[in-house]
Amino acid sequence: MKFKKNISLKNYTTFRIGGRAKYFFEARTKKELIESVNSAKKMKLPFFILGGGSNLLISNKGYRGVVIKFGRSLSLYVSKGLDWAAGIPGTIEGAVYGNAGAFGKSMKDAVKSVEVFDARTEKFRTFKNKDCRFAYRNSIFKKRKNLVILSVEIKSEKSNPKKIKEYLDYRRQHHPRLPSAGSVFKNPTRSHGTRRGIGDTPAAILIDRAGLTGKKIGQAQISEKHSNFIVNLGNAKAKDVKKLISFVKKSIKEKFKIKLEEEIQYLGFKN
Ligand SMILES: Cc1cc2nc3c(=O)[nH]c(=O)nc-3n(C[C@H](O)[C@H](O)[C@H](O)COP(=O)(O)OP(=O)(O)OC[C@H]3O[C@@H](n4cnc5c(N)ncnc54)[C@H](O)[C@@H]3O)c2cc1C
Repeated sequence: MKFKKNISLKNYTTFRIGGRAKYFFEARTKKELIESVNSAKKMKLPFFILGGGSNLLISNKGYRGVVIKFGRSLSLYVSKGLDWAAGIPGTIEGAVYGNAGAFGKSMKDAVKSVEVFDARTEKFRTFKNKDCRFAYRNSIFKKRKNLVILSVEIKSEKSNPKKIKEYLDYRRQHHPRLPSAGSVFKNPTRSHGTRRGIGDTPAAILIDRAGLTGKKIGQAQISEKHSNFIVNLGNAKAKDVKKLISFVKKSIKEKFKIKLEEEIQYLGFKN
């Protein structure tokens, strides 16, 4: 398997942030994906499957393993009934991993089955919807990193072009245009052990009420358009985004006794 070396990951993310991958491979087929995972294992290197890089913060120190880019664009599925997903960047595999959702729907409602390669046992498995253990921005794939998603079968439904337009218009109006990784934090729920009422407030509203909208560290800023987005003003460093995230978590904990959890995923950080 011919891996490329020392590839900058920055332009493989929607945040436009990140250092280099020691090894990099773009898998165009499932076969190439499996072969590259097996090669990384043989070389005793950790591997990371990268989709559209739209839910990721990558350290400027990069990743000392193999980054394998793979996936089919989620947008290809919008016309098959995933109206709500119109405008969500990234791949269908990445969307399954994080149970992406919007406008009251998520991948949980759409997935029929998922074809998986278990990198530990080197066996193929088919996960039915309930085997994926979908929950709010969660799935079994977040917990079991050995599971590589090869393909996704969705329940095809008729799409509604009027709705799709509405969703896209909403995003245009409410989401920042600057580079970001989408919502940084999950919306809290009462299960996080908070007072009734406030515990169900969307993260963006909490951040705004805490007076943090617009706050900047370096070139990373809490978006003035949507307070749950952090935007890259040009040359933001991953560590500035990380600092901003810690600052928000600390402030929200102090002010509202709510523990915010990240929705975005990290790569190349120590913890
Ligand atoms: C402007 C903007 C708007 C957004 N709006 C929304 C929204 O409305 N709702 C929402 O839920 N999200 C939203 N997001 C976040 C993001 O687009 C979604 O989470 C998306 O589904 C991530 O897919 P991806 O392919 O980019 O995954 P990546 O960011 O590349 O990866 C995310 C995780 O998935 C894992 N992964 C990817 N492919 C595989 C695979 N084949 N096998 C195993 N693991 C894999 C990766 O290893 C990583 O841990 C938004 C982001 C942006 C920038």
